[in-house]
Amino acid sequence: MHGLRLPCQEKRVQSGQKFNRPTKDSFRKVGLEDLALCLISLRITDAHAHLNEFTLTGFSAGLRHVDGLSVITNSVDVDSSLRNIEISRSCNMVIPFVGIHPEIFARPENSNMSSEQLDSLTEHIADLIKDAKGIGEIGLDPKYGQMENQEYVLDRILLLAESSVIPITFHCRETTLEILDVLSSYNLRQNIMFHWFAGSEMELGKIHDRGMFTSFGPSILFSKRMAGLVGSSNRGLVLVETDSPTTFQSIINGPSSPFLVYSVAFKMAFILKITFNDMCDLLEANVGKYLATQD
Ligand SMILES: [Zn+2]
Repeated sequence: MHGLRLPCQEKRVQSGQKFNRPTKDSFRKVGLEDLALCLISLRITDAHAHLNEFTLTGFSAGLRHVDGLSVITNSVDVDSSLRNIEISRSCNMVIPFVGIHPEIFARPENSNMSSEQLDSLTEHIADLIKDAKGIGEIGLDPKYGQMENQEYVLDRILLLAESSVIPITFHCRETTLEILDVLSSYNLRQNIMFHWFAGSEMELGKIHDRGMFTSFGPSILFSKRMAGLVGSSNRGLVLVETDSPTTFQSIINGPSSPFLVYSVAFKMAFILKITFNDMCDLLEANVGKYLATQD
């Protein structure tokens, strides 16, 4: 349920009528300020961002003043995991995930890591899991090299995840089928999400057939193929994200922020031919299912 209602909504709610859409007349009865308040009071969750990034410091500091917007903030290494947990302590709209992203293997300082160093990384994550609401982002990505080390770290973290019930977010560029295959070797009870899904319709079907979630980001605003994937999705298993502060040069100058999630949800509503209100309600129900712990 949204925090604020237009006067026309209030009347219908009081009389037990289901609210559909304000009429032109009802819009005339309220000022622009009321409309703006109604818009910002919609509940929505950016299912994947990186609030630890320096460019989002101002956004994170102000988030507690934004009604209705929650952010799942993902980590890529031990430092970002610590930072995301710290940010979540000052704002209850921030949902911290901890993890080791395959991108760390493209860093020059990590070009020759020993198995002891890799173990030390995952031991740090094991310590932090108790303060987190999820594990992410983890995964495999050939772009970053050192596939053997990527697989080693992924295995260590999935073993940790077996004794936990918090949800997992996967980075799966070009590796969706491989990750699905790997997952069958572990006894995982928690919910799983493939973020910024950009694979094939066949892969999308395999993920949703297993009851796992996919999130879609700003690329659905400019890519017909990505918009087509949204249309083919099981709508009970989709989430929206920004992956901010990622830059999307074709739609915005400079780094993005989680505010972009409203545009993504609006486009998703357009693709699925439902109202923006109904889209936000559906997405919040989905994110609630995803974050639910499986005891
Ligand atoms: Zn990310």
